[in-house]
Amino acid sequence: MRASTYPLIDADEAAALVLEHTPVLGLEHVAIDDCAGRVLAEDLVAEAPLPPFPSSAVDGYALRASDAGKTLRVAGESSAGRPMQGGIPPGSAARILTGGVLPDGADCVVMVEDVHLAGGTVTVPAGLRAGSNYHKVGDDLRPGEPVLGAGTQLGAAEIGIAAATGRATLPVRRRPGVALMSTGDELVEVGRKPGPGQIPDSNRWALLAALREAGADVTVLGIAPDEPDRLREVVVRALRAADALVTSGGVSVGTHDLVKPLLESLGTVHVGRVKLKPGKPFTFATLDNHRVAFGLPGFPVSSLVTFEVFVRPALRKMQGFARLQRPTLPVRLAYDARPTADRTEYQRVTLRREGRELVAETTGSQSSSRLMSLAGAHALVRVPAGDQGLEAGSIVEAMILSLP
Ligand code: AMP
Ligand code: MG
Repeated sequence: MRASTYPLIDADEAAALVLEHTPVLGLEHVAIDDCAGRVLAEDLVAEAPLPPFPSSAVDGYALRASDAGKTLRVAGESSAGRPMQGGIPPGSAARILTGGVLPDGADCVVMVEDVHLAGGTVTVPAGLRAGSNYHKVGDDLRPGEPVLGAGTQLGAAEIGIAAATGRATLPVRRRPGVALMSTGDELVEVGRKPGPGQIPDSNRWALLAALREAGADVTVLGIAPDEPDRLREVVVRALRAADALVTSGGVSVGTHDLVKPLLESLGTVHVGRVKLKPGKPFTFATLDNHRVAFGLPGFPVSSLVTFEVFVRPALRKMQGFARLQRPTLPVRLAYDARPTADRTEYQRVTLRREGRELVAETTGSQSSSRLMSLAGAHALVRVPAGDQGLEAGSIVEAMILSLP
């Protein structure tokens, strides 16, 4: 063992360094059928009004409100996609269907349920209001009105409105290409029987799921042995195509911990140790051509907590998200959250609803090897370093992973 030469950096400072050195990726024009989950790279502005014509909201009769209470001649029909030719003369009405264009001369629509039909005439009720039962031009969007802002994630409704404005492709940020590698001579492929002293490479699957869920396009490099030349070979090859490298294991100060020297030889290590628990050995480096590398600790909880604290916000910055952090909510602690070291601590909790409050209960032993402390956890509670911790009953902002 040797002592680490890297300064122990405050957790917030480390997170700021990561974001400072993480680039926003370029823009690409993507067909709308592949845009779900992507982030808009430019503001979308309405070019034409929506709806583009006065459009009936119901099935009924289009007429002048001033003809209320009269019996009118039915002069024609306007159905969706088939506008009536010419307008309606005074004293007449037009049959109209939902989505049909309001004919010239009409200023309201009466629902079919409210009229009386006889021969070629329609008798309409008294007391009609101009403007009723149809959508006016530009009711939803006027030309020049902002539709969606850059940084918006495209969900169903956002894709719907973009399509309604006639766009077949959208400008979105490129998805980050991430090369993922596990390191350690003790690791075997999941599904193979571990030999003496061996364990399954579980971090790969946990991080693959986390990366994909965060929008990354992942290339799995598999298990690299604790052997400097092999490690270097794999990483250098992978970096030709990737925006980021994510490794797990090999960042602490044991003699087999080879990731830090490797990253140092390929670029600049900005973070080598963090005042964070779990996650003290977290390492962040910049490499050539704006690429970034995250050396996550090997312990399963440490790798996923440092993913949440450092990697996810960086991936969101790359994709142009307006909000980089996970959402937080106030929760009431059901337990004394004591710090167990002089480091900022992210404790795993489950949440339950009590009245209008969310109450946080510890997931038990917070050992960084105990993935059961994170499996099923709803939130991470940040316990500040170096004081008494947080008393049971106090209300804190928790980083929400999922809601109960
Ligand atoms: P390291 O950071 O390489 O010193 O590893 C710390 C601990 O995490 C050791 O007990 C490793 O066996 C374990 N570990 C490292 N990589 C993985 C992995 N990919 N999957 C599961 N456990 C791992
Ligand atoms: Mg190792």
